[in-house]
This record gives sequence, structure tokens and C-alpha cells, in this order.
Amino acid sequence: METHFSKQQLKDKDNRSSEKILRKCVHCGFCNATCPTYDLLGDELDGPRGRIYLIKDMIENNKPANEKIVKHIDRCLSCYSCMTTCPSGVNYMHLIDHGRMHIEKTFKRPFGDRFIRNFLSQVIPYPLRFRIVGLLTLLIKPINFIFSKRIKEMIKLMPINFPRKNLPKMKIYPAEKRKKPVARVALLTGCVQQVISPQINESTIRLLNRHGIEVIVPKGIGCCGSLDHHLGKSDLAKETFKKNILIWYKEYINNGLDAIISNTSGCGTTLKDYGFIFRSDDDLKKKAKKISELTKDISEYLDENVKLNFIKKKPNSRDYKIAYHSACSMQHGQKIHDIPINLIKKTGNKVFNIPEGHLCCGSAGTYNLLQNDIAKKLLKNKILNIDKINPEFIATGNIGCITQIANGTKIPILHTIEVIDWYTGGPKPKILRYL
Ligand code: SF4
Ligand code: SF4
Repeated sequence: METHFSKQQLKDKDNRSSEKILRKCVHCGFCNATCPTYDLLGDELDGPRGRIYLIKDMIENNKPANEKIVKHIDRCLSCYSCMTTCPSGVNYMHLIDHGRMHIEKTFKRPFGDRFIRNFLSQVIPYPLRFRIVGLLTLLIKPINFIFSKRIKEMIKLMPINFPRKNLPKMKIYPAEKRKKPVARVALLTGCVQQVISPQINESTIRLLNRHGIEVIVPKGIGCCGSLDHHLGKSDLAKETFKKNILIWYKEYINNGLDAIISNTSGCGTTLKDYGFIFRSDDDLKKKAKKISELTKDISEYLDENVKLNFIKKKPNSRDYKIAYHSACSMQHGQKIHDIPINLIKKTGNKVFNIPEGHLCCGSAGTYNLLQNDIAKKLLKNKILNIDKINPEFIATGNIGCITQIANGTKIPILHTIEVIDWYTGGPKPKILRYL
């Protein structure tokens, strides 16, 4: 694609990166074929190629965003299915991030939108605030009818069950039965996940400890920053990124770290991008790059580094039919698809890919809260495809997908790590107690 940025514009690092990306695009439109919003809405501007033109027009001509542009960019899920399809290697992720930053700087959203987006930014990344809002939601549910459709839908989606944590909060979870651990890793315990599904971190820690790996959870690390990043709130996001980078880097230098483990693929995708985000920051670029290099999805880490001690199945033990849901951030963001499937297959159960598995379930961070109608349609399609397999349970590697899919089906859904933990000596997940 031809571009016409001025020399002055190219002094800006974001314009420079976007110009390189835009030049790779040959307008072929292959990406539209695998874009969930283009598939649903059929409008060129709701597909990647159309959005690329909208972003180009804004940043190249230094135009403020307008309602039409915002509508189509907001409808993008940031699922990155288009990046997997694109034959020219267009990095749509960096382009849409730039577009969202530009919108945040140049467009004043209506009051209701601003309020909701600020509310999400100020609540979701903070476990205590999230818990309090969850409890308040319980109180207002009976008078739900007084709110607008949008708020009603948000109230419906708000989790109100916060399971008890079984592991105490510690800085170091030592490896089992060893004087010297075989490896030392930091775990990103996340924000929402640790409140609504603490068993995911517990399975991760238990499994790693059982295999001789020490797990640390440094004080001060909370949210990975992706929520603000995807809302276009780049200053807030950068504060979080910076804090995380400095804490992990200090730990890496002082005590050594073999990896930073993410068990939420949405967060892992952002951590792996820290290096790019701080590419022009002289103080942080080396540190950020190191943090990105150290980051591994838990499935990736297990596959590359751990000889898992799977327990031999008893002859009369049950075989399960498992549907594997490949989260977009896992398969398109981190290009990890076969690894978790192969790990689950080692449990001796049958694992099936969900038909049209490249299409998003509609979770996409806060998307199901902000674009509820589209998210609901995507969820409906996902459930229809899951039903074609008729599995006993579903496995996936991202808390957002777990929550979204659980809203559409009674089939139990687990994190991949809960399945692996169970078959290597951990407890059977409670959600499967009736199976
Ligand atoms: S597939 Fe790639 S090159 Fe083709 S229009 Fe889409 S982004 Fe551009
Ligand atoms: S990120 Fe997903 S929703 Fe957005 S343009 Fe690409 S394929 Fe479409």
C-alpha cells in the first residue's frame, strides 16, 4: 500500500512503525474471509482491510477520529485472526493499537461511553474493587429493570460467585521434596482470574512445584495492563507495564528467573509485546525486551521444559471426549495451537478441535461488555459448533473465553492446566464432580 507520511510525521515512532506495516498490505482482502465481524456484518469497514484504510486515513492525514471511524474500530475484537491469514505478514495488532491510541487522543466519546470505559478501567484490573462491585451487583440485580439495556447486560455478565482460595498468598511457592529446584519461574497471577477462578493459579503452582519448579509471585505485580491498552488508554497501560517490567527485571537480576509464566493467553500476548511497546525508550527497552523473551504461556513452558509425570490410567477409568477451544490470543496472538492439544492428548482422553475454531467466542477482553450484541452472536455460533462435537467438557487456556463460553452452555469448561494437573497427580476439578 502506498503511503504519504511527511518527514516530520516519521519522526514519531508510532507513525514510523505503522508506515512499515501499511506498506506491507497489498489490499488482497484475504483477511476479510477469516474476520469474525466481517463474517457477521458483511461491511467492508467491519473487516481488517477496511479498518486498515480507516486507520491509515486518520494517522497519515493527522485527522481526528469521528463517529463513523470509532464505530468500526470499536467493533474490532483484536482477535488477530486476520494476522494468521494475511500472506504479507501485516502486523494488524500494532496498527489497531496505534489506531485506538489516536482515537483516545482525538475523539470525545459520549458521556455514557466514557463513563463505562473509565469504570471498567478503574474496576477490572483491581481484584478488591472487582470483588466489591460483584457483591454490589448482587444487591442491584432485583432492580435491574431500571437500567438501560447496556447496563442490564453488563450486570447480567458480572460474576457473582467468588470461590474460596485454597492456597495461601505467598511470595515463594517452593518446589516439592527437593533441596534445589530444577527451575525458578515467576507466575503472573492476573487480576480478574485470581478472583473468579483461583483454582487456575492453584493448579499451575501445584503442578510446577510437583515437578521440581519453584514459583514466585513478586509483590506489586497485578494486572498485565492489557485492559487499558485495548481501551486505548495508553498512559495508564504504560504505567502498569513499566511497574511490572521493573519488578520482574529486578527479580531476574537479583535472584534469577528461568521464565515468566502466563496462564491467561490474553495477558501473555501483551507481555510478549512489552519489548515492542518500549522499543524507543532508552531506559526500558532492554528490560522490556528481556521480560518479553522470558514470557511463556504455561502450555509452551511445560512442552519445552518439563517432563510431565502423567499417571497411568486404570483399566476401568473413564475416557472423556474433550473439545479444545483455541483462544484467539493463543492461536492468533501467540501462534500456539497444537501444543495444548498435544498436552491434553497425553492424558489418554480424546481431544477434538471445535469446527470454525479460528473464529472468536466474543469474549475478547471487555468486548462482551462493550459490544454485547455482536459478542452474543459470536457466542451463539461458538456454542453451535461445540455442540457438533458433543463433548463431556471443554478445555481452553484463557479466562475470558472460559467466562464467555460458560454463559452459553451447561457443558463444563476447564482451563488446560486444570486438566494436566489432574492427570499428573492433582485433584479432579470440582466442576467435573458429576462426571
Ligand atoms: S490479507 Fe494482509 S495484505 Fe491482504 S488486505 Fe489483509 S492485511 Fe492487507
Ligand atoms: S482483529 Fe479480528 S475482528 Fe479485528 S479485523 Fe482482525 S480478524 Fe477482524
